[in-house]
Order: sequence, then structure tokens, then C-alpha cells
Amino acid sequence: MTQFDVLVIGAGPAGYVAAIRAAQLGFNTACIDEFIGKDGKPALGGTCLNVGCMPSKALLESTRQFHNLLHTFKDHGISASAPSIDVPTMIARKDKIVKQLTGGIATLFKANKVKSFAGRGKLLANKQVEVSFHDGAKETLSATHIILATGSVPIAIPGVPFDGKHIVDNVGALDFTAVPRRMGVIGAGVIGLEMGSVWKRLGSEVTVLEALPEFLSVVDTDIARIAAREFKKQGLDIKLGSKVTGAQVMGDEVQLSYVDAAGGEHQISVDKLLVAVGRRAYTQGLLSEDCGVKLNARGQIEVDEHCHTNVDGVWAIGDCVRGPMLAHKGSEEGIAVAELIAGKAGHVNLDTVPWVIYTEPEIAWVGKNEKECKDAGIPIKTGSFPFAAIGRAMAMNEAYGQVKIIAHADTDRVLGVHMVGPMVSELIAECVVAMEFHASSEDLARICHAHPTLSEAVHEAALAVDKRAIHRAN
Ligand code: FAD
Ligand code: AMP
Repeated sequence: MTQFDVLVIGAGPAGYVAAIRAAQLGFNTACIDEFIGKDGKPALGGTCLNVGCMPSKALLESTRQFHNLLHTFKDHGISASAPSIDVPTMIARKDKIVKQLTGGIATLFKANKVKSFAGRGKLLANKQVEVSFHDGAKETLSATHIILATGSVPIAIPGVPFDGKHIVDNVGALDFTAVPRRMGVIGAGVIGLEMGSVWKRLGSEVTVLEALPEFLSVVDTDIARIAAREFKKQGLDIKLGSKVTGAQVMGDEVQLSYVDAAGGEHQISVDKLLVAVGRRAYTQGLLSEDCGVKLNARGQIEVDEHCHTNVDGVWAIGDCVRGPMLAHKGSEEGIAVAELIAGKAGHVNLDTVPWVIYTEPEIAWVGKNEKECKDAGIPIKTGSFPFAAIGRAMAMNEAYGQVKIIAHADTDRVLGVHMVGPMVSELIAECVVAMEFHASSEDLARICHAHPTLSEAVHEAALAVDKRAIHRAN
């Protein structure tokens, strides 16, 4: 039986990063992954690189450019006659990026001498793992440390069966061959809003049905309100308090039933329906009965604050454990676990994991929002600054949204930063650093920010906490 120091199951951003870091630390490392790419060949990188973060960002970028060509280039005096978009070319560009990235992981594995197994891993007792290869062959491996990183899968809702053609999950919505005339999206979460935006920008009539009465309930309410206003302007029809109860494919369309907040029943017809009501940890067939690893009530692999399971030498990271389902959170856990195995001090601070929604405008935040602070009885002061008063945002023709900083009323420590506007996916990094270094809002206010940049909105919001913003009345 082949023995490894570290054996990782799953090569998504959690697993492949853990494997590379373990190999860097001198461990004899292997990684097992079962994912098969669009070309029918094994592909590393998991959901993130194949059917998640990266392909969605590729399509968001293509459609953002097209939307601007149609609607905002004219403000710069740029005109084009009869602009059009070729959907198969757009999808092929996305596929090329995916291939480049997943191939890149294979190269990194080789460079770091991580042994790659293309197949399905199952954890047995005594830290052994059975690999079932795609051709049906099997092999048993063993390791001193095993890291489970099997990720997540989309949640289905009763009465709305996926058929892969009309009723789809993220995989289907990333691969439409033509722009659907009418698209339904169930769930106004991150994935629903991003994928709804992609097809809306290309001309689909997009209806988003969200069961909760509040829009983006996880986002600070001031930021969610601005985002809702911008999405409405773009023509995204977001119906809140609308719980989908069933859907049926009838010919070439989908009939969708939902109940509104007052209990009224409604039906709409769409050509494509995306179900984006969240994801759940994926552990199907992963754990043999006698492997000893426990799941929690939500079906996630139970781990302590160091990602250690209840079985000595077995760890779990990424979407298959508690915490935000975000690629960078999984990657940080992967690094932390590899370092803990090496006797170093690995740690992930879940309180400073940044969130981003890559819509237009983008939404990003880190730390607590105003409601969470108030509910927890924390005394706060806040400062906001609009991009409308930021020269660089005006020059970019994207002068909308704002930055809001929440600081402790007594200590001034930054507790959360919330943004909606241009490139806030990049601006949030400064605030994560600030929070990691336990900065006060005054620290941010006293740091020199380049002019003209979007980051001046962070600077001014920090000044505004102390009612001394320069470029607006306080
Ligand atoms: P995964 O990426 O799911 O990887 C798990 C891997 O393990 C897969 O390859 C799977 O095939 C394999 N596997 C599972 N079981 C076994 C087994 N028994 N044996 C062998 N292999 C197995 N997050 C962000 O941070 N930013 C974004 O912009 C973003 N956009 C997203 C957009 C979409 C449309 C979706 C669906 C998700 C998005 N996410 C985003 C979430 C992100 O993709 C996940 O948080 C991330 O992929 C989780 O990483 P992971 O390594 O835990 O799992
Ligand atoms: P996220 O977890 O960010 O992917 O968001 C998923 C969203 O789907 C949440 O806001 C849920 O409230 C919403 N949702 C879940 N079930 C339904 C349903 N049956 N109809 C409409 N929305 C739903």
C-alpha cells in the first residue's frame, strides 16, 4: 500500500492549496480529485475554477463590456454601429480561461511534486483511503494526515427538478448557448444575482424570486438599499417575499409557481430557470461507516477551530465544513492545516473573511454590519462616503455607491466595512488588512491615499467617522 505524509481528498481551492503548501513544507503529498471537465478529461481546481468563481467572472466581464458598449460608451463620445455579441464565442473564451487555470494547477502539482490521482476518494478506518479510478480500478492508499476538502453541491428545492436544459444550476447557467428571452432565478443570493446579471446584460428579461422579505439580508441595510436601487434601474425584476413552490417543464418553457408574502399564488413562464438557493456540504460516499469522522446537524464535517475532525490526523477544510462558502476562506484553511501539520501556528480568522458580489455595482464587505453590532449591544459610530464625490469614479463614469465604515464608539476600532460601487472587490482588501491589524478608523483616516483613486472613498469614509470628511459636508 502506498503511504503518504499528507493525502488530500478534493482539489478545489481548499484542497489544492493545502496540497501545494504541504509539499512546500517537505511532506510527501498526494491529492485525489474526481472532477471531469467539459472536455471529458480530469480537471483540477474544483467548483471554483471549473464551474464557479472563475467562469462566472469571465462571463460577468464579457457582458459588462457589452453592456457598456450599448449603454455607457456614448457618454464618452464613443459610438459603434450595430454592436452584437456572439454567445458561443463568449462561452468559448470562458472555457479557455477555465482550461488555462485548471491546467495551471496540474503544472503547480508537478512543480511541487504533489502526486495527483484522478478518481473518487473514500476515507476508510485507520487513515486509509480507497481511490476508485474513472476506469473502475481501485487502489488503497494510506497517510499520516488526511485532509478532506470535498466542497459543496447546489441545493435543490422540492417540486423543482433539475433537467440540465430548462431548469439548471450554476453549471447549466454558465453554458447557455443563446440568450434566453425570459430567465427565472430562484434565490437573490450571490450566485443568483451574478448569473442573473450576466444574462440580463445580454437582453434576457430576468425575474428573481426571493423567499425572504428583505433584499440581501446578510448585507448592511444601507448598502443593500443602494444595490437594490441600482439593480432596479438595470431592469432586474427582483420579487421579494416570493417563495417558489414548484416548476414544470411544458414544451420548451418552464411554468413556475410561487407564493407571495400575503399568501397569494402566482405563476410565471420562463425559458430558462436557474435554481440558486444555496449550496450544501458534499460528503456523499466519502466516509466509510467505520472511519469515525462525525458530521454536524447541517451535514458538514465537524471540525474544531483548527479544522481538525474528531479523528486524530484527519482534517477538513473549505465548503464541506462550517463558515462562509468562499474560495479564499477554504484556501486559507488549507494553508493553516498544512502549517499545523508541520508544527507551525496555522490559523484562520473567520471574522475577517471578505465577501464580494461581482454585480454592477459590486458589493463587498468585511466584519460586522450595523444591525449585527446593534443586536450584539456594541456601541458604534459610522462614517460613509459616496463615490459620487470621488473624481476617479466620475472619470470612470461609475460614480455611484458608497463606502461605510463602522467603528466602536469608545475605542474607535474598525468593526466592519461595507461598500457598494466600482471595483469595491479590490478596495475591500485594505479594510481586511486594517481589521487584521486591529486598526482604528483614525488609523485609516491618517493614512495617505493616492489621488485620484477609488481608495479615496475609504479614506474619506474613515474621516467621516469623526465628522471631518473633506470633500462633502459632514
Ligand atoms: P470545491 O471547489 O467544491 O472542490 C471540491 C472538489 O472535490 C471538487 O473538484 C470535487 O469534484 C472533489 N470531490 C468531492 N468529493 C470527492 C471525493 N469523494 N473524491 C474525490 N474528489 C472529490 N467563491 C468566492 O470566493 N468567490 C467567488 O466569486 C465565487 N463565485 C462562485 C460562483 C458560482 C457560480 C459558484 C457555484 C460558487 C462560487 N464561489 C465563489 C464559491 C466557491 O466556488 C467555493 O466556495 C469553493 O469552490 C469551495 O472550495 P472547496 O475547495 O472547498 O470545494
Ligand atoms: P445564497 O445562500 O447566497 O446562495 O442565497 C440563496 C437565497 O435563496 C436565499 O436568499 C434564500 O432565502 C433563497 N431561497 C431559498 N429557498 C427559496 C425558494 N423556495 N424560493 C425563493 N427563494 C428561496
